[in-house]
Amino acid sequence: MKKTVVLLLVLMCIMGVQAKGLKGKTIYLNPGHGGYTTGDRPTATINWEYMDTLSFYETRSNLWKALEVAKHLRQDGANVIMSRTRSGYVTKSQMEDGILNENQESHAIPSEHKVDKRFNQVETAADEYGQQQIVGLERIACQVDSIKPDYFLSMHSNAHKNGSTVNYLVMLFRGETGKPYFENSDKMAFTMWPYVFDNPLSVWSHYAADKPAVVGDISWMGGTPPGTPNRTGATGYYAVLKFNAPGFLVEGSFHTYDPERQRLLNRDYCRLEGLRYYRGIRAYFDGKPEKVGYLAGTVKSATEKMNHPRYTYREGSDDQWKPINGAMVYLMDSRGVNIKGYRTDGEYNGVFTFFGLKPGKYTLRYEAYGYETQTEEVVVEADKTTYVLPKLNRK
Ligand SMILES: [Zn+2]
Repeated sequence: MKKTVVLLLVLMCIMGVQAKGLKGKTIYLNPGHGGYTTGDRPTATINWEYMDTLSFYETRSNLWKALEVAKHLRQDGANVIMSRTRSGYVTKSQMEDGILNENQESHAIPSEHKVDKRFNQVETAADEYGQQQIVGLERIACQVDSIKPDYFLSMHSNAHKNGSTVNYLVMLFRGETGKPYFENSDKMAFTMWPYVFDNPLSVWSHYAADKPAVVGDISWMGGTPPGTPNRTGATGYYAVLKFNAPGFLVEGSFHTYDPERQRLLNRDYCRLEGLRYYRGIRAYFDGKPEKVGYLAGTVKSATEKMNHPRYTYREGSDDQWKPINGAMVYLMDSRGVNIKGYRTDGEYNGVFTFFGLKPGKYTLRYEAYGYETQTEEVVVEADKTTYVLPKLNRK
């Protein structure tokens, strides 16, 4: 009997049958950008001017997404490598202090909101104390090429014209559409698509859950196949994708769509996106579902529309309604006991989230100054995010 089992295992190894799930898999995560420079897609927001470090930078939102992905992957036993874990300049003494706390990245933001030249430098070498902070695209590609992870994901948001209402999801792999230059790179993206498209807090302008935008970078950006080779000899369009391993780059949404940019200022909104990426990666490896559930929504006015030069919304969509800043959202269990609270931020997105909930029935209570209090019954399911879009009436 024992012999049969051993024989079967040996046979499985020979045939290349991989163990199910994320345990032992190597996942390389690249949060796009890294500094507070003009190249890091700075964009003015309702509250903050262009290049103010509290305004929008892809640097910060991409990192928030990636840290959430990493957290879930590690809980499932994956070996996660991140190109960076912080935004902005990391000093030598900080490296020596062993700055490994993933939640300290905001230290790099100066308290006065002016741009400081020091915060434009990001790159520091990995050493025996520290986490690497690499932003150079070719350096990342070369590292990926030497590590050969089981999965690579680069996280970004897209740009059109400021004030444009274009907002879609797109996944780009190295190569031509229908012809990835490294096997399975497109298959991974197709698997992830439905998980990431499922975001009722945003308003998509193009594509659908069953109509994915999974395209080769050369086909998408133009250029002559197979593109210019880099140091590792890999061809393609995007410098960060030129390695010989499976993976792709995701443009999660458009930060030039004003309501979406306001949402991307909220860390928890970015965490929700990270959670969706995690689900997409896990699905590819046929991993186990989570036992906890999630709850997320946006608190908006039922009658007032947004009217601001930096807030062009898609006509007739949910984004026309004014998000309520500083609203309180209370979470109560089935016995009516208050268990959690969330205060919406001051960035005109109305976003609230509750992570890691026991599946079951809950009640949400929404309170905001000048508005009528409202309650709503919700069901939280394991491994799912329940989305709600409450609209409050003026008193
Ligand atoms: Zn980007």
